[in-house]
Amino acid sequence: MSDISSAILPSGTLLPALGLGTWKMGENSSTAEQEVKSLKHGLDLGMTLIDTAEMYGEGGAEIITGKAIEGRRDEVFLVSKVYPYNASHQGVIDACERSLQRLKTEHLDLYLLHWRGEHDLEETVAGFEQLRRSGKIREWGVSNFDVEDMEDLMEVEDGEKCAANQVLYNLARRGIEYDLLPWCQERGIPIMAYSPIEQGRILRNTELIRIAKAYQATPAQLALAFVLRTRNTIAIPKSSDPHRVEENAGAIGLEISREDWAALDAAFAPPFRKHPLEML
Ligand code: NDP
Repeated sequence: MSDISSAILPSGTLLPALGLGTWKMGENSSTAEQEVKSLKHGLDLGMTLIDTAEMYGEGGAEIITGKAIEGRRDEVFLVSKVYPYNASHQGVIDACERSLQRLKTEHLDLYLLHWRGEHDLEETVAGFEQLRRSGKIREWGVSNFDVEDMEDLMEVEDGEKCAANQVLYNLARRGIEYDLLPWCQERGIPIMAYSPIEQGRILRNTELIRIAKAYQATPAQLALAFVLRTRNTIAIPKSSDPHRVEENAGAIGLEISREDWAALDAAFAPPFRKHPLEML
């Protein structure tokens, strides 16, 4: 790993705090080559965590990811997700097998329940634990779980083995700072921040642009630096453009003054009451 700073799972495993998203990849054969190139470039820059899911491109993004990690699996912390409707005990095991085949790998580093669905958490956790014991996954976690969901999970046998919670978090979506983020931090469970640049929608904010300029940085870099300043939080921006991947990697090491963080707080207010967890 290069100088990308790290987050830590409850097990003590280190993982890069800045990784690569893959939503919208693998949907169109004409852009596949560019997508693989972007992911490989990210790996070269030390963004050695890739986040994918069976949902993305209905398996297409896992195939793209498989191509990007070919011959360098050992460098990568590989994350995928199971559809809630596949998350019965046996369903999780079968879905994981299909993901592994598309990714052309023997194991996942982290396997997440994409969101809470119709199957009991007991069932899903039992499936995850069986996968872990057989070596198909190293760890498991959840996504889009609010505090109540996490509390329900902790009631389930082996539920406390949850290694991460992947949720929407960026400057414009700060609701988790009120309760979910401290809840996870107290238990050493890292947050994986998805849509960390709000899918590009926040990049035209005039205050973000003004402050970024003062550091010769771009709005995307400052938006990512905001997520990365949060203890034990991982950002997974997606780009199918190698230049933008490089730009995003430049968020690491950006040192922002206390005054400028306060100016960002004024532009993107932190929560002062409970907000139900938002999803994209
Ligand atoms: P992001 O906030 O990462 O934004 C991605 C969008 O921004 C793309 O359109 C990309 O376009 C563009 N972009 C990327 N970098 C830049 C840049 N430097 N300047 C300008 N535009 C840029 O949104 P995502 O929703 O993709 O979230 C990131 C990842 O999180 C996903 O890819 C997925 O892996 C995960 N995710 C998980 C969810 C869950 O439910 N667990 C839900 C949503 C996302 P281009 O590719 O053309 O550069």
